[in-house]
Amino acid sequence: MTETIYDEIDVPTVVNAAGTKTRIGGSLIRSEAADAMRSAARSFARISDLQSRASELIADVTGAEAGYVASGASATMTLAAAAAIAGDDLGAMDRLPDTTGLADEIVMARTHRTSYDHALRAAGATIVDVGTNDHHLGTGATNVEPWEIADAIGEDTAAVGYVQKEYTEPPLSTVADIAHDHDVPVIVDAAAELPPVENLERFVDAGADMVCFSGGKAIRGPQSTGILAGRQKYVRSAAAQHLDMHAASDAYHPPEGLVDIDALGGVPRQGIGRGLKVGKEELVGLVRALELFVEEDQANKQTEWVARIERTAEQLADAPVTTTITGGDGVSVAPELAVGIDPDETGMTATELTGALRREDPRVFVGADEIDAGLVTINPMCLTDEEADYVAERIESLLT
Ligand SMILES: *Cc1c(COP(=O)(O)O)cnc(C)c1O
Repeated sequence: MTETIYDEIDVPTVVNAAGTKTRIGGSLIRSEAADAMRSAARSFARISDLQSRASELIADVTGAEAGYVASGASATMTLAAAAAIAGDDLGAMDRLPDTTGLADEIVMARTHRTSYDHALRAAGATIVDVGTNDHHLGTGATNVEPWEIADAIGEDTAAVGYVQKEYTEPPLSTVADIAHDHDVPVIVDAAAELPPVENLERFVDAGADMVCFSGGKAIRGPQSTGILAGRQKYVRSAAAQHLDMHAASDAYHPPEGLVDIDALGGVPRQGIGRGLKVGKEELVGLVRALELFVEEDQANKQTEWVARIERTAEQLADAPVTTTITGGDGVSVAPELAVGIDPDETGMTATELTGALRREDPRVFVGADEIDAGLVTINPMCLTDEEADYVAERIESLLT
């Protein structure tokens, strides 16, 4: 493997066969975006002007009214919750996460709850979950009925939360209709639902009021970026709670699309989102990466990924493992190679193999979501062909 900057500073490099995981660095930023960041580091621009420019691009590619950038999809979820709770109420913005006297509940199906709902709660929201886990347990056909969501919405409801996956139920459009019947917005966590590129528009089309995407996954922008795409009134509220504020009011002239001074009736102070900042470099890098992502030839990417894992499957042909190619149907994010490990054949469980690979230098990260079922997965998105060969070589060598 070639020397990296991490070797230079004495930190183990990772060979990433796990896909776009934040904990091992997300994805590799596009070189054009990294170049743009370096250029941005040479002069100044007003952050709100950069946000305004990013907003136009996000609106353009998602079909939403406006957009905003914060330090990750998770950060945009906190801003979305803060926007749903505080709206354009300066006093409420100032009090968050204290929500005394405010509608602060976010209704969501129980099966949509993830560790990321901490991001919603960070703004002061309380999550009210509905439905059951029947389908997963095999005790029923569905986990949640639309009426259960409708029934849970009341005067304390600030929003409905939704985690977008190919298989999440009920359909987003059904949930959006229910939310809108009750005059509350829907916040969608679609952090990792790209590609396909069409998904940039899909959830907005289905009625989502605020959609959160990672800038550091398939878009391959700076890892510390996330995109909020949504209705202008919520984006304005998010901006008012995120931008560095508390300026002298007579000298306060933020971009109109982003901050509506008349509706606010004053200058906000630093809000709940202030710790979720992005710099001029991240904003410029994200703009460039998003422009390139929408132009990318998706079919080409899929072909490249499939070819890479087919090659890896061949490399593993003599290893004591089974290999199966999964996904890659254009709907799931990327095809993967599932490698089956039988401890009777290899003397090692999938968990032990995963651990041993991670302890090497360079560290090798394979997908570990199914290790309990005896499978490790190889995701082609963040590998070169050379690295994929290296991963196959390390697996074979540890198992034989
Ligand atoms: C990755 C991910 C997030 C967080 O995204 P960041 O950009 O790392 O903040 C949130 N939700 C889901 C479902 C994700 O996959």
